[in-house]
Amino acid sequence: MATPPRTAPDARHAVQSDPKLLLPTLRIRVEAMIAALRAEGQNPKLFETGRSPERAVWLGSTGKSRNGIGSLHCLGAAADLVDAAHGWSNPAFFVALGRVAQAYGLTWGGDWDSNPATDQTFDDRPHVQAVPVPMQNGLRACKTAETRERFISDYLRAHPMPAVPL
Ligand SMILES: [Zn+2]
Repeated sequence: MATPPRTAPDARHAVQSDPKLLLPTLRIRVEAMIAALRAEGQNPKLFETGRSPERAVWLGSTGKSRNGIGSLHCLGAAADLVDAAHGWSNPAFFVALGRVAQAYGLTWGGDWDSNPATDQTFDDRPHVQAVPVPMQNGLRACKTAETRERFISDYLRAHPMPAVPL
């Protein structure tokens, strides 16, 4: 098997960071979360939002994504955030991200290795998603953006955002 290239082969595989690619309810929460992180002195950067099928398959082939085409990024239901200055190499940023994501009702990938019964078996510190891992297949079964939006908003309604910014 050929060794997969380290950089995206072409534009179809490129990372996309436009918040408009997120489902509306998730976008609202991610943008509020970014504001909350900035307010406490963090320097968050939205690294990846939506994901093309080509990129999803390619990341799966490199081992950088365990879900490949099943990634919630492909459904607009996940976002990856990193430290704008230090990328993946600031552990304190990810501790803050995990805490704030939880406060905003989102599921953080950084503690996924802590509960094999309900979690992925690897951790993914930049990753936040709209619903917990056991609900992923329900979300994947929604066939349109409208039904996906309804699915995540039904779940997140029970997990309101903080009444005042953190
Ligand atoms: Zn992710």
